Amino acid sequence: MFLAELDQSVQKLKGVGPAAARAMNRLGIGTQRDLLLHLPRAYEDRVTPVTIAESLAGIACNTVAEVIAHDYIGAGPQKTLKVYVRDNSATGALACFGRNFLASRLRPGARIRLAAQFAYRYGEPQTSAFEFEPADGPQQLFGRILAVYPLSEGLSQALLRSALQQALHASARHLEDALPADLRGRRGMPNIAATLQQIHQPDTLAQAEAARRALAYEELFMLQLRLRSRVLAGSRTTRPARLLPQTLQQRATAGLPFQLTADQQTVLQEIRADMQSGRPMARLLQGEVGSGKTLVAFVSALAPIEAGGQAVLMAPTELLARQHAENAAGLLQPLGVRVVLLTGSVPLRARTPLLEAVAAGEADLVVGTHAVFSESTRFHDLRYVIVDEQHRFGVVQRAAVLHKGHNPDLLLMTATPIPRTLALTLFGDMETSTIRNLPPGRKPIQTHLARMSNEQKVYAHVRGELEAGRQAYFVYPLIDPNDRSELRNAETMFERLRDQVFANFSVGLVHSRVPDAEKRQRMAAFQANQLQVLVATSVIEVGVDVPNASCMVVEHAERFGLAALHQLRGRVGRSDLQSWAFFVYADDLSEEAKQRLRILHQTGDGFAIAEEDLRIRGPGDLAGLRQSGFLRLHAADLNRDGDLLEQARSDAAELCSDDADLLQHPGLQRALNAHDRLEELAL
Ligand code: ADP
Ligand code: MG
Repeated sequence: MFLAELDQSVQKLKGVGPAAARAMNRLGIGTQRDLLLHLPRAYEDRVTPVTIAESLAGIACNTVAEVIAHDYIGAGPQKTLKVYVRDNSATGALACFGRNFLASRLRPGARIRLAAQFAYRYGEPQTSAFEFEPADGPQQLFGRILAVYPLSEGLSQALLRSALQQALHASARHLEDALPADLRGRRGMPNIAATLQQIHQPDTLAQAEAARRALAYEELFMLQLRLRSRVLAGSRTTRPARLLPQTLQQRATAGLPFQLTADQQTVLQEIRADMQSGRPMARLLQGEVGSGKTLVAFVSALAPIEAGGQAVLMAPTELLARQHAENAAGLLQPLGVRVVLLTGSVPLRARTPLLEAVAAGEADLVVGTHAVFSESTRFHDLRYVIVDEQHRFGVVQRAAVLHKGHNPDLLLMTATPIPRTLALTLFGDMETSTIRNLPPGRKPIQTHLARMSNEQKVYAHVRGELEAGRQAYFVYPLIDPNDRSELRNAETMFERLRDQVFANFSVGLVHSRVPDAEKRQRMAAFQANQLQVLVATSVIEVGVDVPNASCMVVEHAERFGLAALHQLRGRVGRSDLQSWAFFVYADDLSEEAKQRLRILHQTGDGFAIAEEDLRIRGPGDLAGLRQSGFLRLHAADLNRDGDLLEQARSDAAELCSDDADLLQHPGLQRALNAHDRLEELAL
């Protein structure tokens, strides 16, 4: 939403002095526009009557009562006034902590409108949180739905309500609609002035929710429009549709020692259809670690390669790039495909001839880290860009590599399962493909939750596995004891595990403060089974593949997000060995937090876990998805507004494809420009 001329300071409003303005500033409110967008966090229904007796069920009381008597709690200067009131259902006590002055306004015999939260205490319905006004005066706090706002120190609900009342009144004629009237009409949305009026001062709760949804729709719609105009796919041109050869693909799949899963075949068809279509592909491929995404990516690259083009695969780490290149070579070189590995550790002298080969079109598939796709890398004819673990790359890096070709097809891969609403929000401009099922024959990982005082059982189990020749990971939330003393940390536990618990095995340590060369060396030692136990922080989340490791122990599991824990669990179970995950939690963990961990025990479905994470923690926190520039949602709630998101997405797509006139709507253009400025900041 864009509101012209609303940039005046809130201090212009009556009753908002410098102190209140500073308090509002702490909430991010500077201008009247900001104030109008400070949305209620809840509403109080002061319309529907609720008696004192009914309110004992835990709902807010909204009644007319008579004051019947005064009493005092305690004695002396500290004594507290207690006012007994009665409505037609029960008698209740108002405890006036710090408000003994109310005695004169609550004289016995007075009739008041009363809003309160009663609870049964000391044998009677009692409350210390209440509001009232004389029943024979005009209705000010009653007879309507009251918005309840997020506050900061120095602000009161009354002050915010009064400031908003003025801002609504003053702003009405300056409000400009971002959404074209046509579109609003089609979706049955009121204009922005009415929407804001109804969200701040609704007649009914239903009206408030309808207004919130209207605002949420607008927010999501603008988001989708922005996504569509983003470098990835939006402005890219069309091209002639064509058929691509498939001989190499057929030979590659026929040569595999296994059958592609049904999901893999479907994804390959989806990619082929995109590549043959008249628009460059922009597709997100989701699938858990080990589900066979990379294999699909390699096989799919064979079509453009056979047609004479080049493909590139970007990996987030040197280690992954190396693994990918080896696998690609094994699969593709027998078919005559020339695979080249480009990473930072290839010395410049060795890299130069490789770069020349890429520029001359003598390399078909280039695998590397983003560091090497710098200015100096030129392609002969780049037609396909594959990005592994997409969330590790910024939009800018992706755009840079796309520009190395002429509208190449783009495939982003992610092993972080993304709930559909979130995928649509972050990647609304892309199609998604999903590999849900792992290849057959993998044994499900056995997951156990254990409290920390039971650690010996966990350690004993791990010792058994080590004695059988397997390996184990131990993961901690902190690096060293300086960080936060009450939590276990990797360095201290490394010493303990090495010297005491697993004294007859080799134990190694990696975390982000270990120098890179050292880290690489230790990882290689673990890979080669020279180390049996690897103690780490969550740095090992992405890209480590040691099939012989059969145990994942995460201590202080309560400190990790569910999605992160699921990713960590995915480090084991990478062969036909039975594998175990132990999530060890602090002894004093609350029942609720334990409940949260239990979902890991109940399901191995990363999507279900990600949905749960989204439900509990909101979108900003999902592992690997901190692209929060896209996620500053005020009105929309991804857990509740999935339907709006789908509508907004299809409306935005339609508008972009064939409603050029609507797209020129001035309010919309201004809103988009305002958003663009925001987005530059976010990137
Ligand atoms: P991802 O990229 O999703 O982590 P990969 O493509 O690296 O998964 O595959 C993981 C392992 O599973 C590889 O060793 C691969 O060869 C193997 N694999 C892939 N698809 C299948 C399949 N359909 N059946 C059996 N094994 C498979
Ligand atoms: Mg992978």
